[in-house]
Amino acid sequence: KSMSDDEGGGVDHLFKIVVIGDSAVGKSNLLSRYARNEFNPHSKATIGVEFQTQTMEIDGKEVKAQIWDTAGQERFRAVTSAYYRGASGALIVYDISRRTTFDSVGRWLDELKTHSDATVARMLVGNKCDLENIRDVSVEDGKSLAEAEGLFFMETSALDSTNVNKAFEEVIREIYTNVS
Ligand code: GDP
Ligand code: MG
Repeated sequence: KSMSDDEGGGVDHLFKIVVIGDSAVGKSNLLSRYARNEFNPHSKATIGVEFQTQTMEIDGKEVKAQIWDTAGQERFRAVTSAYYRGASGALIVYDISRRTTFDSVGRWLDELKTHSDATVARMLVGNKCDLENIRDVSVEDGKSLAEAEGLFFMETSALDSTNVNKAFEEVIREIYTNVS
């Protein structure tokens, strides 16, 4: 799939959104759940898939989100500036059952700030909220961090679909508000 497939074609807006966060927090599955309503319990780093798209309507306008996946680069701390280039939205994802992934959020925010402009719409996402029995990060901790950093916040589950569409759609709406 090339960039040109997703440009023009009667779309009123095309927004680039990046998904970042530590390895195995569920980034690829959030994306596949949103774009294709698919979940993969044994997902490995998908090589070569740069982005997927999903379209929604806002104010009678056709808005296309081009959502980028790191394709496993985050394992090597080598998410390049090209990945962030032109992004108008970002989901910063952690896993509510692994505290270390929450502790990394600050680092991902710094990297995002370095590579994108100040108007980027940002959503903090606590994924795997279906794993309540082994929760390691409270909802309150997530909320507090989001408030302190000025981020939207949502807990999601790519496994059971909780809040997945909502998280992406809220970011897309915020971008739309920023540009119109
Ligand atoms: P990524 O490295 O951040 O892209 O993470 P993946 O999407 O590859 O997911 C890593 C692992 O977590 C896989 O085994 C997924 O099946 C699992 N996973 C992803 N999302 C969820 C979720 O919402 N709930 C649960 N229980 N597992 C999930
Ligand atoms: Mg992945």
